[in-house]
Amino acid sequence: MSSPVENVVIVGTGCAGLTAAVYAARANLAPLVLEGGQPGGQLTTTSEVENFPGFPEGVDGFQLMDNLRKQAARFGARFEQALVTAVDFTAAPRSLVCGDRRILAKTVIIATGASPRLTGVPGEKELYGGKGVTTCATCDGAFYRNLDVAVIGGGDSACEEALFLTRFASRVYLVHRRDALRASKIMAERTTSHPKIQMVWDHVPVEVQGGAAGAVSGLKVRHVKSGAERVLPVKGVFLAIGHVPNTQPFAGALEVDDNGYLKPAAGSQVKTRVPGVYVAGDCADHVYRQAVTAAGMGCQAAIEAERWLAEHGG
Ligand code: NAP
Repeated sequence: MSSPVENVVIVGTGCAGLTAAVYAARANLAPLVLEGGQPGGQLTTTSEVENFPGFPEGVDGFQLMDNLRKQAARFGARFEQALVTAVDFTAAPRSLVCGDRRILAKTVIIATGASPRLTGVPGEKELYGGKGVTTCATCDGAFYRNLDVAVIGGGDSACEEALFLTRFASRVYLVHRRDALRASKIMAERTTSHPKIQMVWDHVPVEVQGGAAGAVSGLKVRHVKSGAERVLPVKGVFLAIGHVPNTQPFAGALEVDDNGYLKPAAGSQVKTRVPGVYVAGDCADHVYRQAVTAAGMGCQAAIEAERWLAEHGG
């Protein structure tokens, strides 16, 4: 079944998608916003967001996204649950396939985000978000003042997270599955020489343990060579083993980098090589990955879409 041709279709309802929706709706474009498997995006898995501008007391992540959604709806954004499985950007209007449905659009804003890679060990999912397992030191580090925490990973992100956490935590265990860091030399050196960071080389996580209060009480790790297991007495576990951008349906139609992130065209953060198709947020940004930077990209993308429609007959 085909739909009428939409002015703007926004794929994704995280910070980037919903900010794009607010701007496109306020420009009277009545955007159609497609909600995927995780409405509200990554912020809905965080408890308190303390670094989003304008909230001196912090704001609950779920609440923030709910507010953004209501703000977009108030100006005429329309929401539908639909998972995009394929696209055709070779012809105009652009076409998005959602199961057996085809949605046609003059402009498209892709804001599908990225999912943090998880280890899959027992306890990880159960204690995720607010209970001690997290993927963002910038967001949650301040909750671990004077406590011991563990970071899992050996790349630049793991080092960055570990170094950031030294501002709050009394001790940071960096658990890495090999005996050398993948991170850049300078980051690796800063990390391994920091007095608060204790390297746990050649270890993999086995289980995140929870205490009676339903919060993390320890991380069981195993030495990859000897098989010996021990429990690190930590109250927080920070996963930094990479992200997986949610870009699979677009990978054939748009340029992606080696890690699957959508690549904007030269000279822009949000334009792609396909006219009228824009990217915003973590699906195209593996550097900043913040709610506010995603929101900024969503704003840029909506303004570009609005200009494109004005020039090409919206
Ligand atoms: P990454 O470089 O892919 O590193 C992921 C780390 O997690 C690796 O050390 C990997 O171990 C480990 N790992 C992967 N799967 C695992 C598993 N199942 N269990 C245990 N450990 C696992 O990811 P990233 O650190 O997020 O960085 C992504 C990109 O962004 C990189 O290009 C990075 O340089 C860049 N970045 C740059 C900066 C900066 O310049 N300031 C900051 C952050 C990120 P192995 O080493 O054994 O593979």
